Amino acid sequence: VSPIGPGGTLGIVGGGQLGRIIALAAARYGLKTHVYCPDPDSPAFEVAGRHTRRGYDDEAALVVFADQVDVVTYEFENVPRRTAEILAARKPLRPGVIALATTQDRFAEKSFVAKLGIPTAPFRAVGGEADLLGALEEIGRPAVLKTRRFGYDGKGQVMIRPETSASDAWRTLRGAPCILEGFVDFEEEVSVVAARTVGGEFAAFDLCANTHSHHILDTTRVPAGVSGEAEREAVAVAARIAEALDYVGVLAVEMFLVRRGGEEHVVVNEIAPRVHNSGHWTIEGAATSQFEQHVRAVCGWPLGSAERRGRVEMKNLIGHDADRWRELLGEPGAHLHLYGKSEARPGRKMGHVTRVFAKP
Ligand code: AMP
Repeated sequence: VSPIGPGGTLGIVGGGQLGRIIALAAARYGLKTHVYCPDPDSPAFEVAGRHTRRGYDDEAALVVFADQVDVVTYEFENVPRRTAEILAARKPLRPGVIALATTQDRFAEKSFVAKLGIPTAPFRAVGGEADLLGALEEIGRPAVLKTRRFGYDGKGQVMIRPETSASDAWRTLRGAPCILEGFVDFEEEVSVVAARTVGGEFAAFDLCANTHSHHILDTTRVPAGVSGEAEREAVAVAARIAEALDYVGVLAVEMFLVRRGGEEHVVVNEIAPRVHNSGHWTIEGAATSQFEQHVRAVCGWPLGSAERRGRVEMKNLIGHDADRWRELLGEPGAHLHLYGKSEARPGRKMGHVTRVFAKP
């Protein structure tokens, strides 16, 4: 497939803030965008030349959408597989169906990572209460029970402590197919945000250190402050995952940093087949942003430099945090981003602010 040139149209499935910022990056490169999303007030609609507001199961609408674009990408991992297949049959879908299907199911994802010989938490598939008891016997407590699909920001998961009743935990997740994971006693949570092209060119941004509040990403700091060896190991793990998925576009690999025998190592938690919140710092903090890298990769263009411009801190503005926009506008060096969401519900990502300090 030949590269999509400026003037071509990038189709984006999903209309959240990630789709919005992908569309802005595409516009910068002279591309047109068309966003497909069923939700009426999608932040990405505001900045895309065209949008289609139809369901992900509306085959006729998906076909029309595919016919109107040159390449299709997505901004969230819960695009139904069937939707992805309909699109991929008509236009290049990047990342592809395999990458999507593998990463949208936590059991398929961990099985795939473990098969590559990359460390993960111990895990078992759980389809019922009896399975859960058996898995707890093998894995021990504390453990984390997670739904295989549709979990995000701590939703769809429960911690099973020594005193937790297994049946209560099972009922909390309402009988959804689950995965049980051993609890990882980590020092830090880190992520690798990286891009891979159709031809296999790979470029990672510097390792991100992430802190969460109420299960939602709160702050990303770069450099992560881990050993050079651990950072190289993390990037090598992300590169192997991208290669094995024949991945095209930006991906994020979330990892736990653990200490074993006095050395830092990484344990993979999950893969996001998309641009990622922990990569927002790259907009001002790197030579090329994750959104530009993604557009370049999915259009068949060469990647840009992932070089970092300084010490960077990105803070999410959750719910009413965004009410401080005036104050943040007045702070020299604070780069404010607001996603255009009308209602500041608790836990909702409304924007973020990035601060770039002199290079260490
Ligand atoms: P996830 O939805 O898998 O990203 O999990 C959300 C958060 O829960 C992670 O960022 C961790 O802070 C915590 N967590 C998830 N799985 C584990 C685990 N196996 N061990 C320890 N903490 C975990």
